[in-house]
Amino acid sequence: MKDTSQHPTLPPPDELWKAIQGQLQVKLTRSIYETWIKNTVGSKFDRQSLVVQVPTSFTAEWLGTRLRPLILQAIKTIAPSVIDVSFQVGQVRHISTITGPNKTGPMPLFRQHLPNPRYDFESFVVGESNRLAYSSARNVVTNKETTFNPLLICSGPGLGKTHLLQAIAKSCSDLKVDYLYVTAEQFTNEFISAIKTKTTSAFREKYRNVDVFLIDDIQFIAGKEKTREGFFHTFNELHTGDKKIVIASDTIPNRMHGIDDRLRSRFSWGLVANITPPDFDTRLAILKRRAKKQHWTIGSDALTVIADQVEGSIRDLEGALNRVISTSRALELPPDMKLVIESLESLMPKLSASVITKEAIFRCVCNSLNVAEKDILGGSRQREFVRARHLSMYLLKNDAGMPVTNIGRIMGDRNHSTVLHGIKNVSQGLTHDISLQNDLNQIRKNLTHV
Ligand code: ADP
Ligand code: MG
Repeated sequence: MKDTSQHPTLPPPDELWKAIQGQLQVKLTRSIYETWIKNTVGSKFDRQSLVVQVPTSFTAEWLGTRLRPLILQAIKTIAPSVIDVSFQVGQVRHISTITGPNKTGPMPLFRQHLPNPRYDFESFVVGESNRLAYSSARNVVTNKETTFNPLLICSGPGLGKTHLLQAIAKSCSDLKVDYLYVTAEQFTNEFISAIKTKTTSAFREKYRNVDVFLIDDIQFIAGKEKTREGFFHTFNELHTGDKKIVIASDTIPNRMHGIDDRLRSRFSWGLVANITPPDFDTRLAILKRRAKKQHWTIGSDALTVIADQVEGSIRDLEGALNRVISTSRALELPPDMKLVIESLESLMPKLSASVITKEAIFRCVCNSLNVAEKDILGGSRQREFVRARHLSMYLLKNDAGMPVTNIGRIMGDRNHSTVLHGIKNVSQGLTHDISLQNDLNQIRKNLTHV
């Protein structure tokens, strides 16, 4: 076991825990992660033990009995000196409900949280996948003429809905517009407690008096009849009062189960902006922006590997970057390609299958077929070069698991269909061309020995 006590610069506990959360997120089901891990914060780290702050004693007990071994295992891969983890009940300061700075009201339950400064429009990287959601979100505050209301931002998890809602909250706060950000879960809790304590008029007062109402994770109210009713009335009052409503949801209205048609039709009065998973360039830009913001020095080839390997959620993308940085700090090693591959290998099935790098493929193809890399990447139609080119595409796809668009990009900016054609050519050739089979076998043999 490595002794990190020799290393004076340990990562801060919250950063370390975030990296561990990133790992756990991939190992656990979404519901377990969100219920037990998401709302926790690393609060103390002294080389040998890590203290995690959790919201309730029930969570502390559950994590301590059920998940401790898995959590310790995750911690060990990042900070090998840690031998113990404990869970402490405390106020977990997380992004939660925000209210406008001037609001004072009778419902103190979720007050006085400021927008998370990390989530603003400036730090939001815009690409094809999120352009409509981004520009519509910007318009909510700046463009008084917008005709759409509500704005419904829909996407799978980790693609930026909360970020955009919080960014709207922040610009409201900057422009002194009265706003309210609430998760549907908090709305539900408040609503139920208002019924219990007979304070529904205070509840109504609080909600209908804002200019911009932001509600996150609306899918939470699905199936909760009473809350839906409460939300329906709140929505109507705000809408009739010409107040802006922005809703984030993990499904599009047509697919929302447990939401009645009345509400669904209200949602369709406005604009539905879908966010889809980002393409490679957006992923890379997000990683670069994040590394720069955190003042992390990490080479762009290392970032390219992360962007290439981690598709889908931006939360996973950030988790992977956090993990690389924390590992690099804990082990005092530079965050280069080697460390990226080592620290992400166990996490990313795609990576473990692709310890075979593009460099290794090019090198082996060149050696076996006696061509130069520039011939593979260039445009010559000479037969042996075309063959080497197609074999490289085939290996990058099948042995390195690289997406076709990325293959095109690294192989001299060739388009998608050219790459597909090359791969198909090899697959078909392999059914009858013995010398092609021999070449491929030879290259693969070399590849496993690099
Ligand atoms: P969701 O609410 O859709 O589950 P979040 O808004 O919580 O997702 O985003 C997950 C993480 O990814 C956050 O840290 C957020 O800042 C980051 N993120 C999402 N989209 C972008 C983007 N376009 N540019 C920069 N960071 C982003
Ligand atoms: Mg969210």
